[in-house]
Amino acid sequence: MRTSGITTEEQQFAQELLNFIDESPSSFHVVESVKKMLVLQGFEELSVQEKWSLISGRKYFVTRNNSALIAFIVGEGEPDLYGFHIIGTHTDSPSFRVKPLSEIPVEGHYLKLNVETYGGPILNTWLDRPLSLAGRIVLRGESPFTPQIKLFRSERPLLVIPNLAIHMNRKVNDGLELNKQKDMLPLLAQITEDLQKEGILIHHLAETLGCLPEDILDFDLFLQEYEKGCLIGLKKEFISSGRLDDLAMVHAGTWALAKAMPTLTTQVLACFDHEECGSTSKQGAASPFLAHILERILLAQKKDRESYFQALVHSFLISADMAHALHPNAGEKHDPVNRPILNGGPVIKISANQSYTTDAESAAVFTALCQRAGVPCQKFVNRSDERGGSTIGPISSTHLDIRSVDIGNPILAMHSVRELGGVKDHLAIAKVFSTFYETV
Ligand SMILES: [Zn+2]
Repeated sequence: MRTSGITTEEQQFAQELLNFIDESPSSFHVVESVKKMLVLQGFEELSVQEKWSLISGRKYFVTRNNSALIAFIVGEGEPDLYGFHIIGTHTDSPSFRVKPLSEIPVEGHYLKLNVETYGGPILNTWLDRPLSLAGRIVLRGESPFTPQIKLFRSERPLLVIPNLAIHMNRKVNDGLELNKQKDMLPLLAQITEDLQKEGILIHHLAETLGCLPEDILDFDLFLQEYEKGCLIGLKKEFISSGRLDDLAMVHAGTWALAKAMPTLTTQVLACFDHEECGSTSKQGAASPFLAHILERILLAQKKDRESYFQALVHSFLISADMAHALHPNAGEKHDPVNRPILNGGPVIKISANQSYTTDAESAAVFTALCQRAGVPCQKFVNRSDERGGSTIGPISSTHLDIRSVDIGNPILAMHSVRELGGVKDHLAIAKVFSTFYETV
């Protein structure tokens, strides 16, 4: 079946996604952007140190490590009977993290930055691109245990990882081999007489933040593509942008929760960090973060642990991470018949060996939600001789006894610095998320 034409509403919503991604150059900024959308709709931040007393129908959120967030609207029904409707996403994307001793001079002329690969980027897509730096900087605080945290982004292109000329690498088009320590270090500056000898990066950070270099105790800084994403294609039917994986799901999930009205069920959005490196940090999907927050939601309503376990049985998790669309130049890489396309609607991800949590029952739940939202949906399975990826769903399932489905919107070039998605799909998934939150 052919997809229908693109509407102005779909293009506007895709443009909102591009703005969201542009304002969110690191996982720390993603959390800030999500908070901003939620606060506008009356969500209140809860302190994890304090004892909670929650009011049914009210909207709350908590953050962890400035890079993960869980938001929820307390259900108006008995929590042990109505449980949670949860959408799980992730805030991080493959990139390069600046190492502690980061400055490497080259023959007295250039200064490059020492970086470590984060997650699994397609390395060659990062070459010859204007790059910026983004993340958080940690400053001296009143006590050693309470350092100050400041978000940082360079407002202009600052770095570039140059390719080697074809004349020096004649076989470059036969397959490019890139060494992560040798070939992927970005150029920051030309060393001149007036450039101080050491601590150039720290001085630059201090100058931008308006603090003393010695007040900077540490930082989590990542490279990002500087250019903003755009709509592309004859009818502007595609989205070309970095980090559609997984900010498209974060954006659609936040949009749906921000506009949701309270129902009998508690509606939850979880934005985890560190999916791209296995989820095993205190803010990752393999941590007790979500399980603890869900339990606290019950305890704060004067319910006990037994009620919590009952609530889990009545709950459903949509693990929302991006999926692979049929590639126009590599059709042979896909399953012969299950071939999701861009703009064909959200994709249910299925794996016999459980790298996705989907089973026939949870797929049926998601299919019915799509039908109710008036949105088509597609199915993805790997070619049987390809291993494929995994996501937060199976990791959450090892901690939470909840029915779950793995879904995502179809994209091309996953983990490229510039991925390609479908304009129709973004509004479609947002509608499905809204239907999921609304339906009891
Ligand atoms: Zn992902």
